[in-house]
Amino acid sequence: MDLRDSPDEARFRTRLRTWLSENVPTEPEPAALAERWPHMREFQQRMYRGGWVALSYPREVGGQGLGLMEEAILSQELGRVNAPTMLPLGHLGRPLLSHGSEEQRRRYLPPLLASDEIWCQGFSEPQAGSDLAALRTRAVRDGGDWVISGQKVWTSYGVFADFCLLLARTDPEARRHRGISAFVVPLRSPGVTVRPIVLANGDEEFAEIYLDEVRVPDRNMIGAPTDGWRIAMDVISYERGAVDIGYLSKFERYFAELADVVRRSTPTPDRAVVRALGETAAGLEVLRMHCLRSLSERASGAAPGPETSIDKLLMTRVEQLLMATSLDLLTDAAEPGRREWFDRYLYGRAGSIYGGSAQIQRNILAERLLALPREPRV
Ligand SMILES: Cc1cc2nc3c(=O)[nH]c(=O)nc-3n(C[C@H](O)[C@H](O)[C@H](O)COP(=O)(O)OP(=O)(O)OC[C@H]3O[C@@H](n4cnc5c(N)ncnc54)[C@H](O)[C@@H]3O)c2cc1C
Repeated sequence: MDLRDSPDEARFRTRLRTWLSENVPTEPEPAALAERWPHMREFQQRMYRGGWVALSYPREVGGQGLGLMEEAILSQELGRVNAPTMLPLGHLGRPLLSHGSEEQRRRYLPPLLASDEIWCQGFSEPQAGSDLAALRTRAVRDGGDWVISGQKVWTSYGVFADFCLLLARTDPEARRHRGISAFVVPLRSPGVTVRPIVLANGDEEFAEIYLDEVRVPDRNMIGAPTDGWRIAMDVISYERGAVDIGYLSKFERYFAELADVVRRSTPTPDRAVVRALGETAAGLEVLRMHCLRSLSERASGAAPGPETSIDKLLMTRVEQLLMATSLDLLTDAAEPGRREWFDRYLYGRAGSIYGGSAQIQRNILAERLLALPREPRV
């Protein structure tokens, strides 16, 4: 793969840099999510109006009809300029794009991509996390409607969301994976209760969602009744890609900030500091090169599959190394950004859980890429 920009990509990058230099807010983001959320959303909406969101989605649903390379350039440039955190929710549009009806694509995708309507992902349940196919939320057909009852948990941004992409069991007789369907559930529907869950850093980023005989019309099912599992796996594949969710650029920005703080506070750092930074930089570079490889495969037409578990594992490793290094190096309690780094450290712990835990990613690699046996041989 040629890593240099083509002439078109170089023009795109220049245009983007100009736009970002004129539009990225200069004031720092508020620390608490409740105050940060409107900033994140406002910036995302501004980006959308500027034509910089959903670059690889088709134009007729609100995208820009461009390619993955432009998505990667965008991710790089956002990282470079310290832009506000992007809402990590774009992957929720993918199932509507690939499995949704024409009516669903036209109704839901433009406001989702514009961040005028916020979506959340209702997959996990108290007894169904790693073993997602054990989910118990039920949808029962009643005339032209489905009546949904059950409970979801760990729903990111559930308190801010208007719609939930929800998995429910529609055929209790079918094999576990086959009996699951995907629905669009408006969260203002009668019977829905959304309760915030407070994180260790005080943010209410998660929610529990209770569904008590929530009625949705048949047209709110995405794909066929047996498509739920395939749709869930598609969403998760996109959620695991570092470039897909813009995390590569975020980590590059954090690393640059950390190196800068260390440089300012310790003009001649000792070997241990240099070594810690060097290890982090090397991990980041491995992730970057891996992302480029994934991108080049995707650019040649391959859909994301089980190999995104490699992205997820590398991403988690880099994030946790970076955050642990930051805590080790920023020992001066007076350092103004220390609280922010501590929040980032706490959040980094979640990297080995969300989108499938690190153990589950290793299981996927072992079974689906390396074709190792499921049970150890004795
Ligand atoms: C920041 C964050 C955001 C999230 N956002 C969402 C969201 O928006 N929507 C949503 O639906 N969910 C969300 N989740 C939930 C997430 O998908 C689950 O937490 C995750 O799948 C793990 O499930 P669990 O918490 O039930 O843990 P469990 O499945 O109970 O796992 C507990 C431990 O056992 C290990 N384990 C389980 N099974 C195996 C196995 N077969 N082999 C080896 N080890 C195993 C796991 O690795 C883990 O260490 C989010 C989670 C986090 C942390």
